[in-house]
Amino acid sequence: MSKIRVLSDQLANQIAAGEVVERPASVAKELVENSIDAGARRIEVDVEAGGRRLLRISDDGEGMTRDDAVLAFERHATSKISTVDDLSSIGTLGFRGEALASIASVARVELVTALEGEAEGTRVSIEGGRMRDVKPVARPRGTTITVRDLFFNVPARRKFLRSEATESFHLASLVTHYALAHPEIAFVLTNNGRESLRAAVAANLRERAYQIFGAEFLDNLLEVGGGNAAVARVSGYVSAPRERRTSRDAQYLFVNGRSVRDRLVSRALAEGYRTVLPHGVYPAALLFLDVPLEEVDVNVHPAKTEVRFRRAAAVADAVREAVRAALAAGGYVRVADDGGEREVEPQSLNEFATIDAAGNEALSGEAGWQRAKSEAQLPQQEPIEFGFTPPTDEELLLSSEEFAARAASLPDPTRSASNAVARSAGAGSVEGELDHKLNDVIGAPVATDVLSPRRGEQERGAELSNATDLSGANSSPAPQAGSAPHLPPLNSIAGAMHEVPVESVASNIRPLYQLEESYIIAIDAEGMLLIDQHAAHERILFDKYRKLEQTRHAESQQLLMPETFDLTPAQAAAFDAVAGELETYGFSLMRLSGRTVAIKAVPADLPASEARNMLAEVLETVDAERRGAARETMRERVAASLACHAAIKVNMPLAIEKMRWLIDRLLNTSSPTTCPHGRPAILRLTTRDIERGFHRP
Ligand code: ADP
Ligand code: MG
Repeated sequence: MSKIRVLSDQLANQIAAGEVVERPASVAKELVENSIDAGARRIEVDVEAGGRRLLRISDDGEGMTRDDAVLAFERHATSKISTVDDLSSIGTLGFRGEALASIASVARVELVTALEGEAEGTRVSIEGGRMRDVKPVARPRGTTITVRDLFFNVPARRKFLRSEATESFHLASLVTHYALAHPEIAFVLTNNGRESLRAAVAANLRERAYQIFGAEFLDNLLEVGGGNAAVARVSGYVSAPRERRTSRDAQYLFVNGRSVRDRLVSRALAEGYRTVLPHGVYPAALLFLDVPLEEVDVNVHPAKTEVRFRRAAAVADAVREAVRAALAAGGYVRVADDGGEREVEPQSLNEFATIDAAGNEALSGEAGWQRAKSEAQLPQQEPIEFGFTPPTDEELLLSSEEFAARAASLPDPTRSASNAVARSAGAGSVEGELDHKLNDVIGAPVATDVLSPRRGEQERGAELSNATDLSGANSSPAPQAGSAPHLPPLNSIAGAMHEVPVESVASNIRPLYQLEESYIIAIDAEGMLLIDQHAAHERILFDKYRKLEQTRHAESQQLLMPETFDLTPAQAAAFDAVAGELETYGFSLMRLSGRTVAIKAVPADLPASEARNMLAEVLETVDAERRGAARETMRERVAASLACHAAIKVNMPLAIEKMRWLIDRLLNTSSPTTCPHGRPAILRLTTRDIERGFHRP
């Protein structure tokens, strides 16, 4: 007897359903896509019990005839393509003809549909893939599909469904995506009878984004418009660099109106932000790519969430350049003469208000808040003990001769003090800061210090990477001829830099200086250490917050004016689940009407300016899988996120006392060598390795 059997249609559909129907949101995705393909002007999504009990999608699209309504549930039944040639230019969202068949094989489905002007429509009932009933009914033009008891006949899949809150979150996020992609369609999402999103027909993306995210979010957005019709037109919005997320959840990416998760596009987006956002921090984005249909393959994944570009590199370039141009137009990057760009956004210092000059920690209550605010006005922290002013952006753009000439003309290091005063005087605004920087360059010459490594090192760094291309992916522009002393390729001992085992960290670490205003260079008995200042402070704060959970004595700072925060529909679904946790750490939050939350107080360490970003991040990342996860895990995530936002950032000058303070505190934490996300906080280069690098025996 033959061992091989052809599977029944029903089984084949259930297997296909495994790929197409992962969770309620993926059912909703297929149905909403069908409604859009049917030319709907209005789509209503109704959800009960996170979509397990009920999912109903109604549209006013073109509808189906009786025959089509029955045929639609057949596997590989589609009205959208007919020949293999059609596959190379797909203009509809659907084309595989397997969604309805798959969904109907794992749920109880009812379809009611009618064409324009027909006296009667059709109702089709189908359960677990078996057609139950086909009847005429009355309804206006359009289609309503009701999906009940998802996975009722596939217990194994049912087990993988997450909590109701998690599934609701995914559903809300899905509807949000499609609503953004189609401002011309009205959307309503109702969850357990409560309306969680309502968006009337909008004139454009901006209006739609306003309906969904509120005015505030919009204020922080920069408009993107670029690329070219042959490769990809890029449009939409990206966030100003002050909006910082530690996940990509606030990135909405679309290719030809299709919501996609695309590595290439998100990487190109990140590249656009290089120099204005530190590594590991992500912008928010609503990015739309219009790519010629034959240039993109959408038939890569059964759920159609991935695409493949024929000219991937060109698409990435278009995205990166469009984002870069938007940042430049917003004044966040400037194109320099050599074609290179520099960041111009001043680093706000209020993050650091939590460690004062003497290294004492934390401000709390009203006084602290006031002080945090006044310190935040200072555009640039002056390292007290070095007696020099860090070079400004303009100086960094000078050639080394100019730089040297200027340094030589100014041997008097005391000038830096008066310069510091001049700087803080008129400061407080971006313009103020820029004015001063310009003055520094044009008018009053700047004190420099031979100790200052920045200029020389950057130059040499560029030289080095040009000469040896250590990274293999170096793109820094070649320095102008003769602008720096030529150095032959240097040997690298990069491989000798190692993460540090906890046992080997002793208390005799001495900080020397800062590299790139981001890494503390220190020494101990065994050699040289590099300490990531952000990771170190994150670890310190994380440990502190974890202790708070037991003592429940969070210090908070009342905001003078409560800040309001508009939740996205997805965030609103997450809010109720995490609000309690957030209060443990010192937040005081109040849910106002609709999707608005008022922030009345924030944890003492958290700069008020970061509160909004942190909240957005927690709501987005503590979502989903994680809310299904143990409470303990969730607490940890909230604490890690809070620590990350409250911690000092990279590109922050630190006085030596602050470095010492940071190291002392770090050594007293539960895990001094890693940040709460598990990345290393300390790297070591042993004296032995240095000796080896110099070929000393
Ligand atoms: P696909 O979308 O890949 O064609 P589906 O299984 O999702 O496959 O749908 C099968 C067919 O049913 C579609 O091609 C379309 O003709 C029809 N259809 C599905 N949903 C709707 C709808 N909401 N309005 C009109 N026609 C629909
Ligand atoms: Mg479809």
